[in-house]
Amino acid sequence: MKPTYDEVYRRSITDPEGFWGEEAATLHWFRPWDRVCDDSKAPFTRWFPGGETNLCYNAVDRHVLAGRGGKPAILWESPEAGASKLLTFGDLLGEVNRFAAVLQGLGVKKGDRVLIYMPMIPEALIAVLSCVRIGAVHSVVFAGFSGEALAHRIEDSASRVIICADAGLRKGKPVELKKIVDRAVDLASTPVEHVVVFDRGISPWAPVAGRDVRWVEATEEVGVGNVSAVPIESTEPSYILYTSGTTGKPKGVVRDTGGHMVALHASMRLVYGCGPDDVYWSTSDIGWVVGHSYIIYGPLLAGIPTLVYEGTPDSPNPGIWWEVAAKHKVTVLFSAPTAMRMLRKYPASWVESHDLSKLRHVFLAGEPLDEPTYHWAVQTLNKPVVDHYWQTESGWPMITNHMGLQPLPVKPGSPTRAAVGWKLEVVDEKGDPRPRGQRGYLVGHPPLPPGALQTLWGDDERYVQSYWDYFTRHAKRLYFSGDYAIQDEDGYFRLLGRADEVINVAGHRMGTREVEEVVSGHPGVAEVSAIGIEDEVKGEAIATFVVLKKGVEENEALHKEIVGLIRESIGPIATPKVLRVVPRLPKTRSGKVMRRVLKALCEGKTMGDLSTIEDGASVDEIRTALDELGGATPTAK
Ligand code: AMP
Repeated sequence: MKPTYDEVYRRSITDPEGFWGEEAATLHWFRPWDRVCDDSKAPFTRWFPGGETNLCYNAVDRHVLAGRGGKPAILWESPEAGASKLLTFGDLLGEVNRFAAVLQGLGVKKGDRVLIYMPMIPEALIAVLSCVRIGAVHSVVFAGFSGEALAHRIEDSASRVIICADAGLRKGKPVELKKIVDRAVDLASTPVEHVVVFDRGISPWAPVAGRDVRWVEATEEVGVGNVSAVPIESTEPSYILYTSGTTGKPKGVVRDTGGHMVALHASMRLVYGCGPDDVYWSTSDIGWVVGHSYIIYGPLLAGIPTLVYEGTPDSPNPGIWWEVAAKHKVTVLFSAPTAMRMLRKYPASWVESHDLSKLRHVFLAGEPLDEPTYHWAVQTLNKPVVDHYWQTESGWPMITNHMGLQPLPVKPGSPTRAAVGWKLEVVDEKGDPRPRGQRGYLVGHPPLPPGALQTLWGDDERYVQSYWDYFTRHAKRLYFSGDYAIQDEDGYFRLLGRADEVINVAGHRMGTREVEEVVSGHPGVAEVSAIGIEDEVKGEAIATFVVLKKGVEENEALHKEIVGLIRESIGPIATPKVLRVVPRLPKTRSGKVMRRVLKALCEGKTMGDLSTIEDGASVDEIRTALDELGGATPTAK
């Protein structure tokens, strides 16, 4: 019988040193830690100081040394390239030995930053693991970011070596990564000494003499490589990851080595319920935190195969994910609600025609999981669906149902309760606890568990300001998640959107999520986004953008129904000032709705940086929808 959530959670909070110390002891350390947790310089919490370990050693060598070298480590599927590949842990060890030697040959040393700008191919994982093998700090940049965005990240991290491929593939078209790198290197004010290019033969490129290095040639030259994993202090950084940057300058989240490793390893068992026979697939991208934690490190630390997928959910057909999951007998799938909403537009037969009998759990994160999508996923996939909440900053789930413990009863719309190690609370503006059932800000009590961000790259002050200063004027030091939430009488959390997405209509505060939840309950609605816009009379008013399901027609009756739903469920105060049906919402490449774009369009303001947008055409579509009716909805009062 699995332990209960209450018992394990309580121990993680009352005895964090005992709890995490035991978890850490299941991994390999070159030197044991002096202390489990040192919080003397809060909020700069240090986990396992004095300890020395290596992430690559634990994720690869450890399994080979235990006789599991023949076990699959990377299962690569690329519907884009029409190719697939399998690497065992033994193969992976050979590859990281060779590539780590290439990096050393280019002068990369412990502590140096290496920028990785790669598509979803096995070499991306090899590049990451080779960096941590020699103690270099990787900075993976999503291979959809522009040259400008890349240049900024080169400068901020002062990366002197870049690893890229000639091209990625997106919906059959090449994305010429090497050319974007060339532009970024020109734009950046800091020097780049070497660019290592993995040539897929997709896009021709001209090497820059003395700077560019061909991956294949360089690895052939080093032969077997034989680079032993370097012992790294637990508190040293393993990577920098820039947050999506919806506002202002992107923040370079810094992750440590030991704490991060222990947290991810523990989460594979406790949260995802994984054992040695699992096959794990996270549909994210290595450019995002989910990709770092659960395409690369989590599954490999757990010694189980990770499925690496280059493609989209609906190409060449909307059944492709289920075909791939069936082929590899995937047991745990991790995806995002946005992908489910996309697939929900198609008939269930695309799912039902594949054998998903091995699939045990489906985890979703990244944005609120609305109830209709939750129910669709449960019914169509016929599996437990676990909504879980976390952030780039947290590195692993903060609120989740734990599949490695006795699962808690599900309340759709809530990711259930705090994850082990996280002491979370909903507070008011002064940092005082809100009564159960009342809205407030989601905060974490220090020390945050291992795995959480250590600081922002080169900017300790901004780290403190952005996450820890919010309530200090009320003499409280709390980690501010930036999210607005409610905790109910059973301790379950419900996320209501980002705190800066709280709308204040004539003094009535509500989360945009509340409006979205109601509208998504309309049977014709596939997707919805609600935002607050300036209003002369009420201070703020609500604008709602809706994407309809395939075959549903827009007409006045539909507008009335949607407005009626909002008025009934929340009240007339929430009646939208603007309600528009649009073909799609403007989204980032990671699938998050770019609310600031919607807001700027409604308010006629400039949109700012659009480098992260998935498809710029969505902006014109919304502009047209707004212009058509002169900016006023037929149902607005
Ligand atoms: P990112 O750091 O880009 O991964 O975004 C993190 C943010 O996504 C969180 O602060 C939340 O606003 C949102 N988020 C992530 N997971 C969930 C979830 N399960 N439910 C609601 N919001 C979520």
